[in-house]
Amino acid sequence: MDKCISCECNLLVSGTEYVIEKALKPYKGYSSYSTIFEYAMCMPCAGKMRNLISAHSMKNINQYFSQNFDPNRTRRKLLENENSDVENWLNRCIVKDIIIGDLSECQVYAQCSGEQMLLGHFPYMVSGVALDEVVDLLSQETLDDLDKFKNEFVDGPSEFQDLLQSGPKVFF
Ligand SMILES: [Zn+2]
Repeated sequence: MDKCISCECNLLVSGTEYVIEKALKPYKGYSSYSTIFEYAMCMPCAGKMRNLISAHSMKNINQYFSQNFDPNRTRRKLLENENSDVENWLNRCIVKDIIIGDLSECQVYAQCSGEQMLLGHFPYMVSGVALDEVVDLLSQETLDDLDKFKNEFVDGPSEFQDLLQSGPKVFF
């Protein structure tokens, strides 16, 4: 992926920060999976999208994560060991702690700079179960706004639009 899905800026220019969101259906972990959708978005556009989430919805999301997600549980260990095997960063849902092999649907998020992927808060994997819980926290107004934003940049084949129907589910 070399272009922002929204503004189409070139992401591979050194120092350009962006996020990748990819939804997939794993079969037996990452050894085999099908991609539901994936896109890359530059930080300014990701910021715009995040701003569409109402203050009320954002409060609910933050509360959900503070109750369900301990970033120190596994993240710190990976960082301390300078573990650069990406599979170790993605093999468990950061919210539910379910291993990839037990999931039928999940999304992975990565933060990149130019051609490099950054290790830190990202990358991480969220199970479909946790994503559904997060979407339930969003107000109808926020969901409508995200839909409108999504429709602006999804003008590709209808197949892709269908794939994006359930996403993007942003909370980076
Ligand atoms: Zn952009």
